[in-house]
Amino acid sequence: MDDAFDLVVIGAGPGGYVAAIRAGQLGLKTAIIEREALGGICLNWGCIPTKALLKSGEVYEGLSHLADYGLSVEGRAYDFTAVIERSRKVAQQLSAGVAFLMKKHKVTVVDGNARLEAASGAPRVWVDLKGGGERVLTGKAVILATGARAREIPQIGLAGDGERIWTYRDAMTPKAAPKSLLVIGSGAIGIEFASFYRALGAEVTVIEALDRILPLEDEEIGGAARQAFERRGLVFRTAAKVTKLAKTKTGVAADLEADGKTERLEADAAIVAVGIVANLEGLGVEALGLTLDRGHVVVGPSGATNITGLYAIGDVAGAPWLAHKAMHEAVRCVEHIAGVAEAHLASPIPACTYSEPQIASVGLTEAAAKAAGREVKVGRFPFRVNGKAIAQGETTGMIKTVFDAGTGALIGAHMVGSEVTELIQGFTLAMTLEATEEDIFATVFPHPTLSEVMHEASLAAYGRPLHI
Ligand code: NAD
Repeated sequence: MDDAFDLVVIGAGPGGYVAAIRAGQLGLKTAIIEREALGGICLNWGCIPTKALLKSGEVYEGLSHLADYGLSVEGRAYDFTAVIERSRKVAQQLSAGVAFLMKKHKVTVVDGNARLEAASGAPRVWVDLKGGGERVLTGKAVILATGARAREIPQIGLAGDGERIWTYRDAMTPKAAPKSLLVIGSGAIGIEFASFYRALGAEVTVIEALDRILPLEDEEIGGAARQAFERRGLVFRTAAKVTKLAKTKTGVAADLEADGKTERLEADAAIVAVGIVANLEGLGVEALGLTLDRGHVVVGPSGATNITGLYAIGDVAGAPWLAHKAMHEAVRCVEHIAGVAEAHLASPIPACTYSEPQIASVGLTEAAAKAAGREVKVGRFPFRVNGKAIAQGETTGMIKTVFDAGTGALIGAHMVGSEVTELIQGFTLAMTLEATEEDIFATVFPHPTLSEVMHEASLAAYGRPLHI
């Protein structure tokens, strides 16, 4: 077998498999190595299966509001096993889709665990094959796309046991739905699972060490989201740090430190969602002398590392830890390797949390813009006066825009409400094209749509909203 490739990609998550597709399109002879399942965490244990769970939760919770729509139904129940099975089937379908795409682009898929060894050009890649034995691959270039996993802190019990203390992986396939749940950490993972289990009726308490939830989001948007979550019955303990988590006879107990006092909360189960760490173990990166910074590979703009011929993309190359960032970096990295001219425009990276309500943002928060010394014009517009939102009975939330007062450039947009994860792309495109307020004012937004709130929030920044 010929094991000499133009490109060897390690890891078949959204970074790795997209890199392989683009390489195939550009005519590079490409191999991709995956130790688990094609599609990585995103397709198998992250973005996709959680969206399936959240949809089940949304439909189920929605049934309790049927009277608002002049409807009724006898009884309301869920089959938890079937909910989980649906989510697993969705993941399997997409993973099979990646297998098809690899075949279509003539990418060689190698099932196994890779490690790197210094060589005169790009590092040589040794693979412990899943089926037994070893295989050595060489590439003119090697891309490291090994992703990340849940951060665990076993010293204080913040580590999954697969039974009652869950990481995101465990939280996706428990045998039964908990009646009560502690969620430790209020980032995207914590909030999405809190939203899902609350939708199924669990008593959910989210514990966050910082003084607000979704700390990366604009403070006002995070505050509005918190109010909406509280109306759904979620309980938040902010400025409360979990110092110990342990199993009890029947569930779990968390010790918190808040306001200088210690207290204990108990529940059936807990989800640990306190961040992620890059997957670098066993790859031989230390022997190679790969430069790392706080556990992530240090890369240049096209993913180049300090090692000749070795590139890194996605989670393993640092924040933000988002699938779409990995996919975007994949294309740029492969085009750089293949010598394709680089794109001129730089897109900001949007962030989405798929809870009920959803949260989405792009660019600078108001606070970050001000901290950077920018003079800003800020617009706000609520969904409660939008025709489509009222007709749909989904009036929660708002959109906030941040413009540079000097140039009129849109520099940030922040949203909480129904379907805002679909809306944010409008502002992302606007920012990529360096749109100003005039460009957005001049744009026609279809009526009636939720997107009109984007227009109104932009007009509001300049004191001229139409419908309020
Ligand atoms: P995170 O880093 O976003 O949030 C973790 C939170 O836990 C922080 O707010 C932190 O203050 C808090 N925390 C840490 N230790 C604590 C303690 N002892 N007690 C109480 N609170 C504590 O991490 P995450 O939610 O696990 O997500 C990991 C990454 O995955 C994120 O960077 C996120 O971008 C990404 N992700 C994104 C999506 C999405 O876009 N929808 C979904 C899942 C994950």
